[in-house]
Amino acid sequence: MIAILIFFIAHWYLSLFVQTIFLHRYASHRMFSMSPMVEKYFFILTAIAQGTSYLKPSLYGILHNKHHEHSDKEKDPHSPVMSSNYFSFMFKTLVNYRAGEEMIKNNPKITKSYPSWPVFEKLVDTYTYRLSFLLMYILFYLYFAPSYWYFILIPVHALMGPLHGFIVNWFGHKNGYRNFNSNDNSKNTLPVDLLMSGELYQNNHHKFPNRPNFAVKFFEIDFGYITLLIMNKFRIIKLKS
Ligand SMILES: [Zn+2]
Ligand SMILES: [Zn+2]
Repeated sequence: MIAILIFFIAHWYLSLFVQTIFLHRYASHRMFSMSPMVEKYFFILTAIAQGTSYLKPSLYGILHNKHHEHSDKEKDPHSPVMSSNYFSFMFKTLVNYRAGEEMIKNNPKITKSYPSWPVFEKLVDTYTYRLSFLLMYILFYLYFAPSYWYFILIPVHALMGPLHGFIVNWFGHKNGYRNFNSNDNSKNTLPVDLLMSGELYQNNHHKFPNRPNFAVKFFEIDFGYITLLIMNKFRIIKLKS
């Protein structure tokens, strides 16, 4: 039981770490810089952390910037305002992700301003890689789960990346309070966002998309930003001044 709990929490926050730091704040918004070597480490960490549900940084960046540009309008790739329920929302997101893949295949130049590592990505963006991670989750649960009931958590591991995307994009544009009256429906869902490391301050983030700190009010704490400050201190990354 304790092994499952530790594994679940570790996977949740490691996957969240690469999503908020590497895919969102770095690949999409370029809030800081890093050396080509550190960037490669992040690619590897993202592939390990997201495993079965690995999201390509360039594709994530393209779709995310489209989200900012058309927030909660017709062309937003994932807006709860444009979808009536969870399923149509997830389906629309998946359709847009697939369309994005096609778009990159037909016009590779559009990924130019996003981080890419073609040799590595060819290796991990495959069914073999994704299924081998799924197999590892199953084996872990077979060995450590005290009962088969725990197996219902395996799909959560397999869909960790999109699940985090769902929580942020659905609740962050549907439930919560607003600090700013923007043209979209963005909300700050949790006053202290321990669950999603600052990603649930969507209203603040849409107001200041390139600001590394998503917290604005005195009671808000952006744990993702605190992580950036620590990495900046240790010179792993360089925050833009
Ligand atoms: Zn948003
Ligand atoms: Zn953003």
